[in-house]
Amino acid sequence: MNLVIIIWPEEMQFFMGKFTAEQINQLNNDLKTPQEVLKWAIDNLHPKLGMASSFGAEDVAIIDMMMKINPKARIFTLDTGRLNQETYDVMDEIRNKYNINLEVMFPDQNEVEQMVRVNGMNLFYQSMGNRKLCCGIRKVHPLNKMLVTLDGWITGLRNDQTQNRAGSKKIEVDEQHNGMIKINPIIDWSWDQTLDYIKSNNIPYNKLHDKGYPSIGCEPCTRAIKPGEPLRAGRWWWETDLEKECGLHADHGNK
Ligand code: SF4
Repeated sequence: MNLVIIIWPEEMQFFMGKFTAEQINQLNNDLKTPQEVLKWAIDNLHPKLGMASSFGAEDVAIIDMMMKINPKARIFTLDTGRLNQETYDVMDEIRNKYNINLEVMFPDQNEVEQMVRVNGMNLFYQSMGNRKLCCGIRKVHPLNKMLVTLDGWITGLRNDQTQNRAGSKKIEVDEQHNGMIKINPIIDWSWDQTLDYIKSNNIPYNKLHDKGYPSIGCEPCTRAIKPGEPLRAGRWWWETDLEKECGLHADHGNK
């Protein structure tokens, strides 16, 4: 594998603590493979760089690549308290296989207690507002708590997942999170490419993928999809909103 090594002249390095738009454009042109993108990110941003992993197929593929580049690269996850057992299983399998010091972020206990006291345990089925409230408290707030400590974060986004993600690039300035760097190394991969990488590298994966779940979130909010349905149709299946986002990658006002 040929890795592209880019060394910025000193005056081209951090601009006011961030990369310039020109630098980001050049990187998106120069860095072709996910491994090149990840190597650049780790070389330039570690240890203030973290992979946000929900341990879906895209994420375990990226973790495998990261561990082959630098076994000390940081991985964090958001334990909402409502995940499937299969998700906890694959977390431990990956953690053990790569000897990862997995950083687990939990929701604020007081926020969860207040939310369920007022709205009940299954509030997300009652209204879009309640669903976004729950995603905000169980996912977005813990994510933000981690992101304010970092200069860059890595995601498993792919362009064909949602309309919102269709225009995303490999490397972006994340305006939603204070202009930090957002790295999407497999943004232009297909679902089949992702599965091929997992199989050919013998990577543990969430067993729900074998049961019709291409996209996996919390247990009460995710179902298997039917043949021909969009990949994220099983997320919040009772909602008609096409966006199918929780607020981690789109501003839903639940920060
Ligand atoms: S996916 Fe469902 S259970 Fe999980 S945080 Fe969002 S609304 Fe709450």
